[in-house]
Amino acid sequence: MQLDDQRASGNVEDRRGIGVVGGGLGVGGIVIAVVAYFLGFDPGTVMNVAEQIAPQRETREAPRGAPADEIGQFVSKVLGSTEDVWGKIFQQSKGQYRPPTLVLYDGQVRSACGMGQSATGPFYCPGDEKLYIDLAFFRELKTRFRAPGDFAQAYVIAHEVGHHVQKLTGGFQKTESARGRASRAESNRISVRMELQADCYAGVWGHHAGTMNQLDPGDIAEALNAATAIGDDRLQKQTQGRVVPESFTHGSSEQRVRWFKRGMDSGRPKDCDTFSTGPV
Ligand SMILES: [Zn+2]
Repeated sequence: MQLDDQRASGNVEDRRGIGVVGGGLGVGGIVIAVVAYFLGFDPGTVMNVAEQIAPQRETREAPRGAPADEIGQFVSKVLGSTEDVWGKIFQQSKGQYRPPTLVLYDGQVRSACGMGQSATGPFYCPGDEKLYIDLAFFRELKTRFRAPGDFAQAYVIAHEVGHHVQKLTGGFQKTESARGRASRAESNRISVRMELQADCYAGVWGHHAGTMNQLDPGDIAEALNAATAIGDDRLQKQTQGRVVPESFTHGSSEQRVRWFKRGMDSGRPKDCDTFSTGPV
Protein backbone atom coordinates (compact mmCIF):
# COMPACT_ATOMS: atom_id res chain seq x y z
CA MET A 1 0.00 0.00 0.00
CA GLN A 2 1.00 3.63 -0.52
CA LEU A 3 0.11 5.46 2.66
CA ASP A 4 2.75 8.21 2.75
CA ASP A 5 0.19 10.92 2.02
CA GLN A 6 -2.50 9.44 4.27
CA ARG A 7 -3.08 11.14 7.62
CA ALA A 8 -2.91 8.82 10.60
CA SER A 9 -6.10 8.60 12.63
CA GLY A 10 -5.87 9.67 16.26
CA ASN A 11 -8.71 7.32 17.23
CA VAL A 12 -6.31 4.65 18.40
CA GLU A 13 -5.91 3.32 21.92
CA ASP A 14 -2.57 1.61 22.42
CA ARG A 15 -2.98 -1.08 25.06
CA ARG A 16 0.08 -3.04 24.03
CA GLY A 17 2.23 -3.78 27.01
CA ILE A 18 -0.56 -2.85 29.40
CA GLY A 19 -1.42 -5.90 31.42
CA VAL A 20 -4.86 -6.89 32.55
CA VAL A 21 -4.92 -7.90 36.19
CA GLY A 22 -6.05 -11.47 36.72
CA GLY A 23 -5.04 -14.84 35.43
CA GLY A 24 -4.83 -15.70 31.79
CA LEU A 25 -6.21 -18.69 30.02
CA GLY A 26 -3.91 -21.64 29.77
CA VAL A 27 -2.78 -22.98 26.45
CA GLY A 28 -5.74 -25.39 26.42
CA GLY A 29 -8.19 -22.56 26.94
CA ILE A 30 -6.70 -20.58 24.10
CA VAL A 31 -6.93 -23.52 21.71
CA ILE A 32 -10.61 -23.98 22.60
CA ALA A 33 -11.22 -20.28 22.05
CA VAL A 34 -9.66 -20.37 18.57
CA VAL A 35 -11.70 -23.35 17.53
CA ALA A 36 -14.82 -21.85 19.04
CA TYR A 37 -14.34 -18.60 17.19
CA PHE A 38 -13.68 -20.13 13.83
CA LEU A 39 -16.15 -22.98 14.07
CA GLY A 40 -19.22 -21.01 14.71
CA PHE A 41 -19.81 -20.59 18.41
CA ASP A 42 -20.65 -17.11 19.41
CA PRO A 43 -17.33 -15.45 20.33
CA GLY A 44 -19.33 -13.56 22.96
CA THR A 45 -19.81 -16.80 24.84
CA VAL A 46 -16.14 -17.54 24.68
CA MET A 47 -15.35 -14.09 25.97
CA ASN A 48 -17.70 -14.47 28.89
CA VAL A 49 -16.07 -17.71 29.84
CA ALA A 50 -12.71 -16.00 29.66
CA GLU A 51 -14.07 -13.27 31.89
CA GLN A 52 -15.02 -15.71 34.61
CA ILE A 53 -11.58 -17.23 34.51
CA ALA A 54 -9.82 -13.91 34.44
CA PRO A 55 -11.52 -11.14 36.39
CA GLN A 56 -9.81 -8.07 35.14
CA ARG A 57 -8.86 -4.53 35.80
CA GLU A 58 -6.56 -2.52 33.58
CA THR A 59 -3.29 -1.68 35.26
CA ARG A 60 -3.07 1.83 33.79
CA GLU A 61 -4.59 4.24 31.27
CA ALA A 62 -3.82 3.51 27.65
CA PRO A 63 -2.27 6.28 25.55
CA ARG A 64 -4.57 7.63 22.82
CA GLY A 65 -3.43 8.73 19.37
CA ALA A 66 -1.42 7.22 16.56
CA PRO A 67 1.48 5.16 17.97
CA ALA A 68 4.90 6.12 16.60
CA ASP A 69 6.19 2.64 15.72
CA GLU A 70 5.92 1.28 12.19
CA ILE A 71 3.00 -1.11 12.63
CA GLY A 72 1.20 1.41 14.88
CA GLN A 73 1.55 4.03 12.16
CA PHE A 74 0.31 1.56 9.56
CA VAL A 75 -2.90 0.64 11.38
CA SER A 76 -3.53 4.32 12.25
CA LYS A 77 -3.19 5.29 8.58
CA VAL A 78 -5.44 2.48 7.39
CA LEU A 79 -7.98 3.57 10.01
CA GLY A 80 -7.56 7.18 8.83
CA SER A 81 -8.21 6.06 5.26
CA THR A 82 -11.42 4.24 6.30
CA GLU A 83 -12.54 7.40 8.16
CA ASP A 84 -11.97 9.53 5.06
CA VAL A 85 -13.83 7.10 2.80
CA TRP A 86 -16.81 6.41 5.08
CA GLY A 87 -16.96 10.07 6.11
CA LYS A 88 -17.52 10.99 2.45
CA ILE A 89 -19.98 8.19 1.80
CA PHE A 90 -22.10 9.12 4.83
CA GLN A 91 -21.95 12.80 3.85
CA GLN A 92 -23.27 11.99 0.37
CA SER A 93 -26.41 10.59 1.93
CA LYS A 94 -26.65 13.53 4.34
CA GLY A 95 -25.51 11.43 7.25
CA GLN A 96 -22.60 11.84 9.59
CA TYR A 97 -19.96 9.19 10.16
CA ARG A 98 -18.99 8.65 13.78
CA PRO A 99 -15.57 6.98 13.62
CA PRO A 100 -14.84 3.98 15.83
CA THR A 101 -11.80 3.61 18.08
CA LEU A 102 -9.19 1.00 17.25
CA VAL A 103 -7.68 -0.72 20.27
CA LEU A 104 -4.28 -2.36 19.84
CA TYR A 105 -3.57 -4.94 22.49
CA ASP A 106 -1.55 -8.00 23.20
CA GLY A 107 -2.65 -11.06 25.10
CA GLN A 108 -6.06 -10.11 26.40
CA VAL A 109 -8.21 -7.05 26.66
CA ARG A 110 -11.36 -5.91 28.35
CA SER A 111 -14.19 -4.66 26.13
CA ALA A 112 -17.81 -3.70 26.73
CA CYS A 113 -18.60 -7.08 25.14
CA GLY A 114 -16.52 -9.00 27.65
CA MET A 115 -12.99 -10.21 27.69
CA GLY A 116 -11.24 -10.49 24.34
CA GLN A 117 -8.02 -12.27 23.65
CA SER A 118 -5.68 -12.73 20.75
CA ALA A 119 -6.95 -16.25 20.19
CA THR A 120 -10.44 -15.01 19.30
CA GLY A 121 -9.03 -12.95 16.44
CA PRO A 122 -9.84 -9.31 15.71
CA PHE A 123 -13.35 -8.30 16.74
CA TYR A 124 -15.73 -5.34 16.85
CA CYS A 125 -17.71 -4.54 19.97
CA PRO A 126 -20.90 -2.57 19.19
CA GLY A 127 -21.30 -1.74 22.90
CA ASP A 128 -18.28 0.57 23.00
CA GLU A 129 -17.85 1.08 19.22
CA LYS A 130 -14.27 -0.12 19.30
CA LEU A 131 -12.39 -2.55 17.09
CA TYR A 132 -9.93 -4.75 18.90
CA ILE A 133 -6.83 -5.90 17.08
CA ASP A 134 -4.05 -8.04 18.45
CA LEU A 135 -1.03 -7.75 16.22
CA ALA A 136 -0.31 -11.43 16.78
CA PHE A 137 -3.20 -12.08 14.38
CA PHE A 138 -1.33 -10.27 11.61
CA ARG A 139 1.60 -12.59 12.20
CA GLU A 140 -0.79 -15.57 12.15
CA LEU A 141 -2.27 -14.33 8.91
CA LYS A 142 1.16 -14.48 7.38
CA THR A 143 2.41 -17.75 8.87
CA ARG A 144 -0.54 -19.97 9.76
CA PHE A 145 -3.00 -18.78 7.12
CA ARG A 146 -0.31 -18.01 4.52
CA ALA A 147 -1.86 -14.67 3.66
CA PRO A 148 0.99 -12.15 3.78
CA GLY A 149 0.96 -8.52 2.72
CA ASP A 150 -0.01 -5.14 4.10
CA PHE A 151 -3.27 -5.03 2.20
CA ALA A 152 -4.29 -8.37 3.71
CA GLN A 153 -3.87 -6.72 7.13
CA ALA A 154 -5.73 -3.63 5.97
CA TYR A 155 -8.60 -5.84 4.79
CA VAL A 156 -8.94 -7.26 8.31
CA ILE A 157 -9.18 -3.73 9.76
CA ALA A 158 -11.61 -2.64 7.03
CA HIS A 159 -13.79 -5.70 7.71
CA GLU A 160 -14.11 -4.76 11.41
CA VAL A 161 -14.84 -1.16 10.36
CA GLY A 162 -17.55 -2.72 8.16
CA HIS A 163 -19.23 -4.06 11.32
CA HIS A 164 -19.11 -0.54 12.75
CA VAL A 165 -20.85 0.76 9.62
CA GLN A 166 -23.50 -1.91 10.23
CA LYS A 167 -23.91 -0.58 13.76
CA LEU A 168 -24.29 3.01 12.51
CA THR A 169 -26.83 2.03 9.86
CA GLY A 170 -28.84 -0.07 12.29
CA GLY A 171 -28.04 -3.38 10.60
CA PHE A 172 -26.10 -4.79 13.53
CA GLN A 173 -28.90 -4.42 16.10
CA LYS A 174 -31.50 -5.77 13.68
CA THR A 175 -29.54 -8.91 12.92
CA GLU A 176 -28.50 -9.48 16.52
CA SER A 177 -32.13 -9.45 17.66
CA ALA A 178 -33.14 -11.71 14.77
CA ARG A 179 -30.38 -14.11 15.77
CA GLY A 180 -31.60 -14.12 19.34
CA ARG A 181 -34.96 -15.54 18.23
CA ALA A 182 -33.59 -17.97 15.65
CA SER A 183 -32.53 -21.61 15.77
CA ARG A 184 -28.80 -22.34 15.73
CA ALA A 185 -28.76 -23.09 11.98
CA GLU A 186 -30.82 -20.00 11.14
CA SER A 187 -28.69 -17.87 13.45
CA ASN A 188 -25.60 -19.08 11.60
CA ARG A 189 -27.15 -18.16 8.25
CA ILE A 190 -27.85 -14.63 9.51
CA SER A 191 -24.30 -14.42 10.81
CA VAL A 192 -22.92 -15.39 7.38
CA ARG A 193 -24.94 -12.61 5.70
CA MET A 194 -23.67 -10.12 8.24
CA GLU A 195 -20.06 -11.20 7.79
CA LEU A 196 -20.28 -11.16 4.00
CA GLN A 197 -21.71 -7.65 4.16
CA ALA A 198 -18.71 -6.59 6.28
CA ASP A 199 -16.43 -8.15 3.64
CA CYS A 200 -18.27 -6.22 0.94
CA TYR A 201 -17.91 -3.00 2.96
CA ALA A 202 -14.18 -3.73 3.24
CA GLY A 203 -14.21 -3.93 -0.56
CA VAL A 204 -16.04 -0.59 -0.79
CA TRP A 205 -13.24 0.96 1.22
CA GLY A 206 -10.66 -0.79 -1.00
CA HIS A 207 -12.32 0.68 -4.08
CA HIS A 208 -11.94 4.22 -2.77
CA ALA A 209 -8.42 3.57 -1.44
CA GLY A 210 -7.61 2.63 -5.04
CA THR A 211 -9.10 5.89 -6.28
CA MET A 212 -6.88 7.70 -3.76
CA ASN A 213 -3.86 5.89 -5.29
CA GLN A 214 -3.17 3.97 -2.10
CA LEU A 215 -2.98 0.55 -3.71
CA ASP A 216 0.03 -1.24 -5.17
CA PRO A 217 -0.27 -3.77 -7.96
CA GLY A 218 -0.86 -7.07 -6.20
CA ASP A 219 -2.71 -5.55 -3.24
CA ILE A 220 -6.12 -6.82 -4.33
CA ALA A 221 -4.69 -10.28 -4.81
CA GLU A 222 -3.40 -10.12 -1.20
CA ALA A 223 -6.85 -9.34 0.14
CA LEU A 224 -8.48 -12.05 -1.97
CA ASN A 225 -5.89 -14.51 -0.76
CA ALA A 226 -6.63 -13.52 2.85
CA ALA A 227 -10.39 -13.82 2.28
CA THR A 228 -9.81 -17.29 0.85
CA ALA A 229 -7.59 -18.30 3.76
CA ILE A 230 -10.16 -17.39 6.42
CA GLY A 231 -13.22 -18.87 4.72
CA ASP A 232 -15.16 -21.24 6.99
CA ASP A 233 -14.75 -24.23 4.66
CA ARG A 234 -11.00 -23.77 4.51
CA LEU A 235 -10.69 -23.37 8.28
CA GLN A 236 -12.93 -26.33 9.01
CA LYS A 237 -10.95 -28.55 6.69
CA GLN A 238 -7.78 -27.46 8.45
CA THR A 239 -9.04 -27.91 11.99
CA GLN A 240 -11.50 -30.81 11.80
CA GLY A 241 -10.79 -32.39 8.43
CA ARG A 242 -14.33 -31.99 7.09
CA VAL A 243 -16.70 -29.22 6.07
CA VAL A 244 -20.09 -28.60 7.71
CA PRO A 245 -21.84 -25.77 5.84
CA GLU A 246 -24.68 -25.44 8.42
CA SER A 247 -22.14 -24.39 10.99
CA PHE A 248 -20.62 -21.63 8.85
CA THR A 249 -20.71 -18.26 10.56
CA HIS A 250 -18.52 -16.19 8.22
CA GLY A 251 -19.08 -17.74 4.79
CA SER A 252 -17.05 -19.98 2.52
CA SER A 253 -13.83 -18.81 0.90
CA GLU A 254 -15.66 -18.42 -2.41
CA GLN A 255 -18.42 -16.30 -0.83
CA ARG A 256 -15.99 -14.08 1.07
CA VAL A 257 -13.94 -13.46 -2.06
CA ARG A 258 -17.05 -12.79 -4.16
CA TRP A 259 -18.57 -10.24 -1.75
CA PHE A 260 -15.26 -8.48 -1.17
CA LYS A 261 -14.82 -8.17 -4.94
CA ARG A 262 -18.35 -6.91 -5.36
CA GLY A 263 -17.69 -3.99 -2.98
CA MET A 264 -14.28 -3.44 -4.52
CA ASP A 265 -15.71 -3.24 -8.05
CA SER A 266 -18.66 -0.98 -7.28
CA GLY A 267 -17.53 1.22 -4.38
CA ARG A 268 -21.19 1.63 -3.38
CA PRO A 269 -22.46 0.30 -0.04
CA LYS A 270 -25.93 -0.31 -1.47
CA ASP A 271 -24.44 -3.10 -3.58
CA CYS A 272 -23.55 -4.87 -0.32
CA ASP A 273 -27.11 -5.77 0.63
CA THR A 274 -26.57 -9.40 1.58
CA PHE A 275 -29.93 -9.51 3.36
CA SER A 276 -32.39 -8.81 0.53
CA THR A 277 -30.82 -11.17 -1.99
CA GLY A 278 -31.79 -14.83 -2.12
CA PRO A 279 -28.90 -17.23 -1.61
CA VAL A 280 -25.65 -15.43 -0.83
ZN1 LIG B 1 -16.69 -10.11 11.09
